[in-house]
Amino acid sequence: MDFQKLSAFLEKSGLPAFRMKQVRDAVYRGLAASWDEVTVLPAPLREKLSGEFHLHSVEQLEAQVSAKGDAVKFLFGLKDGRKIETVLLNLLPEKWSLCVSTQVGCPVRCPFCATGKKGLKRNLSPDEITDQFLAAGAWLRKERGQKIGNVIFMGMGEPFYNYDAVGEAIKVMTDPDRIGLGQRHISVSTAGHVPGIRRFAKDFPQCNLAISLHASEDALRNELVPLNRQYPLSQLAKALNDYIFSTRRRVFVEYVLMDGVNNSRSQAAKLNSWLRSVAAPKYFTINLIPYNRTGCPYRTPAKDRIKVFAGLMETYGFEVTVRKSLGDDIAGACGQLAGK
Ligand code: SAH
Ligand code: SF4
Repeated sequence: MDFQKLSAFLEKSGLPAFRMKQVRDAVYRGLAASWDEVTVLPAPLREKLSGEFHLHSVEQLEAQVSAKGDAVKFLFGLKDGRKIETVLLNLLPEKWSLCVSTQVGCPVRCPFCATGKKGLKRNLSPDEITDQFLAAGAWLRKERGQKIGNVIFMGMGEPFYNYDAVGEAIKVMTDPDRIGLGQRHISVSTAGHVPGIRRFAKDFPQCNLAISLHASEDALRNELVPLNRQYPLSQLAKALNDYIFSTRRRVFVEYVLMDGVNNSRSQAAKLNSWLRSVAAPKYFTINLIPYNRTGCPYRTPAKDRIKVFAGLMETYGFEVTVRKSLGDDIAGACGQLAGK
């Protein structure tokens, strides 16, 4: 919603300023799904407003619930007809995280990711990012009577290629007068955009940073994460070291395991030495993500191979988690979002 336009409209209609606050509260705090639900406003005003203003800049076209009920994938339509996906994930009882998109498509084009296949269509606006929260939050309130606790910028797109809009959205999400989440409940995942990491350290030192590493040698990483050709591992190491030094925060390292590509013992050893060249193991949590099928020519390692890799990293002294693949039955798992 364009609050500036709304404010001008209310003023022109001779309505008192407190109406503006009522609308803001209903949208951000009450997570109203439509003007009908903004019941603090008199009915004729609601009707007038619904003819003039959309409550959200994204329109829910579909909400698919996984068989286990622990993931919900939304297909949202944008004003120009493009589509994006957003996923609600129930990671712990009553704890919901929202995985938001930042771009339509992605310019990085990692060869294992469905989002990157078609390249970048366009950036999302700050409203289009924030409104994924408002629309999914309204759904969760209505359907389950629950709230979104965490936001992860891990949907479609590379957040730091759309830094300004992502920064604006984080401000709205953390503003106590609007959505009011703590910075610690927000995580941004990047494919290793070095200038973005540097800005993020200054602007949002309490938010969580996740790096999609996937390889610790330039030759392989150039292939798996083409952004590496622009920001090679040596530059990424320096940026992460500075990030850790200035924020004193740990970094989440995402590593998609692809059988026969990046999951050998010697690659685990290389990961260990590269991370140690950045900072001590206590500054990292390694998040192993078994490859999710996206129609790309990669294979998911067998369970015992995943265990071996995880075990090795633990022996090297790192905290390791293996990401659960929620929502793969609705193509809502990592890397599967294509906006179809
Ligand atoms: N562009 C950002 C954020 C979105 S991608 C980034 O790359 O970090 C979110 C995560 O999903 C990344 O860690 C990415 O590497 C991972 N991912 C992409 N395709 C995947 C696949 N097929 N299987 C498992 N994880 C995948
Ligand atoms: Fe873009 Fe991330 Fe997919 Fe790579 S993994 S193509 S950076 S969305």
